Formats: sequence, structure tokens, C-alpha cells
Amino acid sequence: MTSVIIIGSGLGGLAAALRLQHAGFQVTLFEKQTRPGGRSSVIEEHGFRVDTGPTILVMKDTFEETYAAVGQDMNRRLDMIQIDPNYRIYFHDDTHVDLYANMAELAAEVERIEPGAAESLFDFIGAGARKYALGMDFVVRNYDHITDIANPRAGLRLLRTGSHRRLYKQVGHYFKSDKLRKAFSFHSMFLGLSPFDALAMYSLITYADLARGMWYPRGGIYSIVEDMVALAEQLGAQICLGTPVQEIVIEAGRAVGVRLESGEVVRADMVVSNADLPYTYKKLVPAAYRKQYTDRRLDKMQYACSGYLLYLGVDKTYSHMRHQALYFSEDYRANLDAIFKTRTLPAAPSFHLNLPTVTDPSLAPEGHSLIYVLAPMPNLQGSVDWNEAAPVVREQLLTQIERLVDPDLRAHIVWEREYTPVDFEQGINAVHGTAFGSFSHGFFQSSYFRPHNKARDIQGLYFVGQGTYPGVGMPMVLLSARLVTERILREWN
Ligand SMILES: Cc1cc2nc3c(=O)[nH]c(=O)nc-3n(C[C@H](O)[C@H](O)[C@H](O)COP(=O)(O)OP(=O)(O)OC[C@H]3O[C@@H](n4cnc5c(N)ncnc54)[C@H](O)[C@@H]3O)c2cc1C
Repeated sequence: MTSVIIIGSGLGGLAAALRLQHAGFQVTLFEKQTRPGGRSSVIEEHGFRVDTGPTILVMKDTFEETYAAVGQDMNRRLDMIQIDPNYRIYFHDDTHVDLYANMAELAAEVERIEPGAAESLFDFIGAGARKYALGMDFVVRNYDHITDIANPRAGLRLLRTGSHRRLYKQVGHYFKSDKLRKAFSFHSMFLGLSPFDALAMYSLITYADLARGMWYPRGGIYSIVEDMVALAEQLGAQICLGTPVQEIVIEAGRAVGVRLESGEVVRADMVVSNADLPYTYKKLVPAAYRKQYTDRRLDKMQYACSGYLLYLGVDKTYSHMRHQALYFSEDYRANLDAIFKTRTLPAAPSFHLNLPTVTDPSLAPEGHSLIYVLAPMPNLQGSVDWNEAAPVVREQLLTQIERLVDPDLRAHIVWEREYTPVDFEQGINAVHGTAFGSFSHGFFQSSYFRPHNKARDIQGLYFVGQGTYPGVGMPMVLLSARLVTERILREWN
């Protein structure tokens, strides 16, 4: 049996383990942490169970396809609930807008904010649908040669959608209201990009989110990780937790196994790294073999943003709240510039507010709620000292959450944890402590230009997860597992 070692149990690593084991390879997966999941982890303490990372599940078809590829029906294994409205968006002036998946309700909501804008909404969503259809052709693709991106017809049609323009500016062609411009442009943040810099192409995420639905698996996103681990083990894969890899062993230009931190060498026919790609090259590949991705080249690449997270267990329930919400601070631009340009602490952070117990009370003891707050922050390339910054940001966030959720909030907090950019670096080896993924999604770090899923200089070394193409986010890393499996099957037939 041809053997594969996978380094890391993020969703991409787990999906690759499932697909490769199902295809007849013998998979052994080594994970540094004592829990699988990577960025999609969980904390279970004092009766609370909180997803620590992703909470927004869109492009459900990529999850279904992952399961179908190994002969399983995801919707039978997991209880998927559609969330509608997808988000409530709060503005600094105490107003809000609900982004409904139900188009009639969404149109009414948009009209309430900007009379006459419903027609523009449907134009905007239609344009998003075209970008989605054209863009997916560049997303679900293994790249070998630069000519693979040269699809003149698709390229021309994409140009006609204005995909090469800036996202925030293009959204401005549809909506006059500043509030709607924010509400329909923030999605690029999920890729670690400011909407002022992101390509308008990425409004396809807004389309995928609103028109194709947002989902929640009962038990939380971590239920998917747990189910994938169980399924991989059932298929025969070996998953070793708390087992950090120290080095990829390379002999005569070929990856032949890994050296664990314990010193043990485990050999295999190939190695697939799901650890951060820049970390893999910098720390796991011996310098003599790093001809393509040298430290110098990796240091010049653009890294995505990080985040500060606050998880609260509260002895109250909040029926007036939505499952998902966002808060935009008054100066949207200043907040984004602090994160992406000056890499300083935003004066007034915008944030994502998630109350999963609104949909799923089983995540907390009876009569209690979970509050998850994610404030995008600069990555560690800036000079923020997180020992000093964390209490300041916590205080700013609590003050805002008191306004939005409960003026008595602090008196009801019974459990609390936080996670800073430094934790991303130390916990999962994320270079510069990036949150959603390592490399940002500028044009020259996307599709063909993103690091490929196969090392050019080292035979038998592959990559899966957010560092390679298609990129960042759960649906994309599941697709990366499909692409690397297709490549391996082609090469190892
Ligand atoms: C706070 C937050 C919110 C997010 N929100 C969303 C969202 O709402 N929707 C969405 O779709 N996406 C979201 N994302 C992004 C998404 O979670 C990630 O893009 C995706 O999960 C990354 O998966 P991956 O396969 O690349 O692996 P990762 O999750 O990056 O995992 C890599 C694994 O490799 C392990 N590893 C590293 N070094 C070693 C070593 N030396 N030896 C062994 N193992 C090692 C790490 O411990 C880790 O488990 C969010 C991410 C975060 C952090």
C-alpha cells in the first residue's frame, strides 16, 4: 500500500486524509496539538462548548461533495440548520440592518435603509452570480503552467463584470448609502483583505453567502471536525495527536518521511503538509532544499490579518439577539487602515459577534448563553505588544457588547477565555500570527500565483489547506483537499 504522511489536522488535512485513505493509500496524520481541527477548534469547559474559529458556513456544497467523495451523505450524518437572517449588522449610531437570505425580506430591509435600492440589490446579486460562475472555473483547478490561467473567454467575461476593480468602489456603484456599502463589501475581510484593496471579484463571496445560504451544524462547526476524524479512523487512517513534526526528511531530492519532535523518524512514500505553508518551508524543510520558497521570498509575500477573540459564558439568555452579527465602528476606513496598512491597534474596533446559543442552546448549561467576539487585528508584522493591548481591546469590546446585547453583561459573565495573534503563532505555528490563513488574496497571491500544492524542488512533497490554492476559508480548504488528491492520484496511479 502506498503510504502518505499528513502534517496537521486542519479541515484541509482531515479532508485530504479522508479522500486519500478512501482512494487506497495508507494515511498517517501527525498533529501538533492535543485536539484536531487547527483553526477550526473548540473549547469545552464548565458546560460551555464554543467554536474557537470559523462560525460562518457557506458553500455547503463543498462540504457535501467532500463527504460524497468518500461515499457518505453529510446531511444524514450532521444536522444542518439554515440561518436566516445571515447577519444583523449594527452601526455606531445604534441602527441596524438584517441581511436576510429570504430575498423579499432582504429587499424590504434594503429599501428601509435606502429607498429605491431594492432594484440595485438584485442587479448586485445578479452580478455576483456571474462572478461566482466565472470565478469558480479559476478556483477548482490544479495549476501546472501559467497558460492554465489563460482562458481568454472566461477572462474577458470576468473583465466585463468589473472584477478587476476595487470591491468597495464597485459596491458604491450599486448603493449610495454608506451603511449598505459596508454591509455588501465586508466579506473580503474573511480572506484577510480590506474591501478598499480587494478585487471586486470577491463580491462573489457576498453572493455565495446571501443567495446560497448560511448554515450551522447542530453542536457547532466542531461537530464537522469530530465527524471527519471519526470517519477517517473508520476508513483506516491513523491520527496521532500531540505529535509535532520537527522536520520533513528529504533524501536525494525526495520527501521520504518526517522526523517527529520526539526524534523518531517515520518513513512514507510521500508527505502532505497542512501546516502553514510559509512555516512548512521555513521550519520543516531543510535550507538546502528551499530553492523556490527561500526565507527572502517568503518574507516579501503579503500576509493576511490576525484577530483578537473573546469567548464569554453568560448566565442569561438573549432572545432579542441574532445568531450572527457584525458591528461596524464609525470610521470603517480608519479601522481597516489600522489593520492592513499601519498595522497598529484600531482606535475603535469593528467586530463579529456570534451567539450560537440563539440557535443551539445545547452549547451552554440551561439558561446560559455563549458570546463569541472576533475583532480583526493587524498581524504580528506590526509592533503591537499583546500583553498590553489585550486588556484594552477586551474593555473596548465589552463596552460595545453592553450596548448591543445587555447593559448588565459584566455582572453575568461566569466563564471567559481570550485568544490573541500571539496565540495563533504559538498554538498552530501561524507565521506572523495570521488568523484566517497565511497569505492574503491579492491578484499575485491567488490561483496560479498562489503557492502550488506540489513542491517544485522536492519530489513527493505536497500541500493542502489555506496556504495553497484555492485559498482561505473552510470551503476553499476542502477544495484544496480535492485538488491535491486529484494531483496525487494522477501522479501515483
Ligand atoms: C477566528 C477565525 C474565524 C474564522 N472564520 C471563518 C468562517 O467563519 N468561515 C470560514 O469558512 N472560515 C473561517 N476561518 C478560516 C478557516 O478556519 C481556515 O481558513 C481553515 O480552517 C484553515 O484550515 P487548514 O486546513 O488550512 O488548516 P489549519 O486550520 O491552518 O490547521 C493547520 C494544522 O497544522 C498543525 N501543525 C502546524 N505545525 C505542525 C507541526 N510541526 N506538526 C504537526 N502539526 C502541525 C496545526 O496545529 C494545525 O492543527 C476562520 C479562522 C479563524 C482563526
